[in-house]
Amino acid sequence: MPSRSELKRLARHNGTPLFIVDHDELRRRYALFRKHLPRVQVYYAVKANPDPAIVRTLFREGASFDVASFPEFMIVHDNIRALPPKPRQQWIWDKIIYANPIKDKDTLRRLDRYRPLVTYDNVDEVEKIKRYAPRAGLVLRVSVPNTGSVVELSSKFGASPGEAVDLIEAAFSAGLVVEGISFHVGSQCTNFQNYVQALEVANSLFKEAWSRGHPQVRVLDIGGGFPAPYDLRVKPFEDLARMLNAEFDRLFPSDMEILAEPGRFLVATAGTLVAEVIGKAVRGGKRCYYINDGIYGTFSGVLFDHIPYRLKSFRLGKEEICAVFGPTCDALDTISVAESLPELEIGDLVYSENIGAYSHASSTWFNGFPPAKAIHINRRAKLGR
Ligand SMILES: *Cc1c(COP(=O)(O)O)cnc(C)c1O
Repeated sequence: MPSRSELKRLARHNGTPLFIVDHDELRRRYALFRKHLPRVQVYYAVKANPDPAIVRTLFREGASFDVASFPEFMIVHDNIRALPPKPRQQWIWDKIIYANPIKDKDTLRRLDRYRPLVTYDNVDEVEKIKRYAPRAGLVLRVSVPNTGSVVELSSKFGASPGEAVDLIEAAFSAGLVVEGISFHVGSQCTNFQNYVQALEVANSLFKEAWSRGHPQVRVLDIGGGFPAPYDLRVKPFEDLARMLNAEFDRLFPSDMEILAEPGRFLVATAGTLVAEVIGKAVRGGKRCYYINDGIYGTFSGVLFDHIPYRLKSFRLGKEEICAVFGPTCDALDTISVAESLPELEIGDLVYSENIGAYSHASSTWFNGFPPAKAIHINRRAKLGR
C-alpha cells in the first residue's frame, strides 16, 4: 500500500480521481495464495480488474487466467508473451479458462480455433458448443451452497448435483470431451464450510463419472470466492488453506489437476482511490460532501459488489458523521450516508483503500464523468527486476 504522503504526491502529480494499482501488493497476494495452496494452479478472474498491466504482472508470476467474454479472452491472449514452446492448444488450456457457463454463438464461433477450455451447466449449451465450438474442452459447473457469501451466484449458474452426471454423459454422447468439474461458493466467502461442502459434492460426482467409464474427467476447478481482508472479521487465508489442503488430500488422488479462479483475493488490496472534495452542503443537519468519483465510477462496487468502502481524509480533527456523494446528478450516486470524517474543505483529498476489485472495472461514463485515471506503481521493477 502506498504511504499517505505518496498518495498525496501522486494525486498532486496526476490529478484526481486517481486509481492507484500497487503491483508489489499483487505479487504478494499471488505468492500468499501459492504458498498456502501449493497444489492449486491460479487462474486470475479477469473480471475483477481487467487492466492489461495487472494481467502481465500476474502472468510473469506464473498465473493463468479465467475469462468470461471474448474481449476478456483477447486481453489475456494479447498480453501474455514469452510462452513456453508448447503446441498452441496446450498453452491456451494451461493459461486460459473461459468460465462463463452461458456463451452466445458468435463467441463460441470465435473461440473454437483456440480450442479453449469452457464451462457449461445445461444441455442447450452442450448443443451450442457442439455446433459452434466442437474443439473446446468442457468443464461442468455445478451449483453448491453459497451461504453467507457477500455476492451470491448459485441462483444464476450451476447444474444441480442430481443432473450433473447426466450432463457429463450428454456431452460425451455429443462427441465432446469433458475435462473437469467446477463450482463457485459465492464471492467474498467468509463461511469456509461452503468450500468443504462443495468439495464433497465434487468428489461424489467424480466418483460417479469415473465409475460410468469417464476416467478422463480429472480437472477440479474450485472457482473464486477467496475473501479479501476488508476488515478484521475476515478469518486468515491460512485457516481456509489448511482446511482445503486437508480436504484435497482426503478426497482427491494426487494426480488430479486442481485449479482456482481467485479475483478479489488478488486485486482488492492492490487498489487505492484518491478523490477530491468538490462541494459541501448541510442538509437536514448533516454535513454532506460531494467528491469527484462515485457510484458510476470507482465506487460502483458499493452497488454492484455490496462492499461498503470507507473513506479516509488527510486532515486531522474531530470526526463527525457525514454523507458523501459522487459527482453525478443522480441521488443513487451516494457513497455513504454515515461516514465519520473531520470537517473537510473544498479541494481536500480523500482516499479509499482495498478498492482494487469490482470497482474501476465497472466504471461508466454516466453524466459525462470519465472513469478515474489509473496509474501503476511497481517498486520491484524500478529496482531492476
Ligand atoms: C467472478 C468469478 C470468479 C472470481 O470470484 P472472486 O470471488 O472475485 O474470487 C471466479 N470464477 C467465476 C466463474 C466467476 O464468475
